[in-house]
Amino acid sequence: MATRPAPMRHGYLIDMDGVLYRGSDLIPGADAFIQQLRKRRIPFRFLTNNSQRTRRDVVAKLSRMGIEAEEDDVFTCAMATARFLARQKPGGTAYVIGEGGLLTALHQNGFAVVDHDPDYVVVGEGRTFNLEMVEAAVRMLTKGAKLIATNLDPSCPTQNGIRPGCGAMVAMLESATGLKAFGIGKPNPIMMQAACDELGLPPDQCVMIGDTMETDILGGTQLGMHTVLVLTGGTQSADLARFAYRPEYIMESLGEFARTLNANDWLPPWRTVPAPLKRRRPLQAI
Ligand SMILES: [Mg+2]
Repeated sequence: MATRPAPMRHGYLIDMDGVLYRGSDLIPGADAFIQQLRKRRIPFRFLTNNSQRTRRDVVAKLSRMGIEAEEDDVFTCAMATARFLARQKPGGTAYVIGEGGLLTALHQNGFAVVDHDPDYVVVGEGRTFNLEMVEAAVRMLTKGAKLIATNLDPSCPTQNGIRPGCGAMVAMLESATGLKAFGIGKPNPIMMQAACDELGLPPDQCVMIGDTMETDILGGTQLGMHTVLVLTGGTQSADLARFAYRPEYIMESLGEFARTLNANDWLPPWRTVPAPLKRRRPLQAI
């Protein structure tokens, strides 16, 4: 009997908004894709630049849409930020403009949330942002606190168009103080590497699937991961001409990617590249 070669170890990092769902609507085929990964014991993490929700909140949202998930499946930019800060300054303090996901992650990593003389001002997504907080943060920053953003996305998609993202809120603090925030979320390699570490795999055995060139695909490319752009979110094929880097594979949806993988017994895509996808070109320096 012929023996099949052992499949190379590999894993998936999967962006959520625009890949699994839009607003509160599941993107068809996303649930079946995740089921296959589970069935085949291929490791994966959901990777989000939304710092507002805790892992438990994310699991609840996914399960409402029919995607089975556990807290350990979720990796957020709030977690990446808190772990980074805990390494930079163990037992440090932060003034936080943000919500549950960020506050929980900071506490779990030994940080105290304070409103006087913090080591860091940390800004995340949320609806609690107001001018009183901005004013307090500006004073702390001018007294030497460091400015950290969970991510620098200028806007976020919603069912009714876009809303200002964490980057837009941070811009107000940057403008007032002349400081530049350090953003930890995608595309920062700090978050991308931390996500690969979660899978226990080196970047060249990880596949980043996302709908946004500036975060998912840039971050994956910079770290040497394999990248898949799906066209179910903000980016369309025609937009690619604007970028100096390109994704390794372009798929209409997670459903189409599943069909491609299915035809190759879910081996790593780079081992089984079917003809229509065999379009790798050297990447330009970025
Ligand atoms: Mg997205």
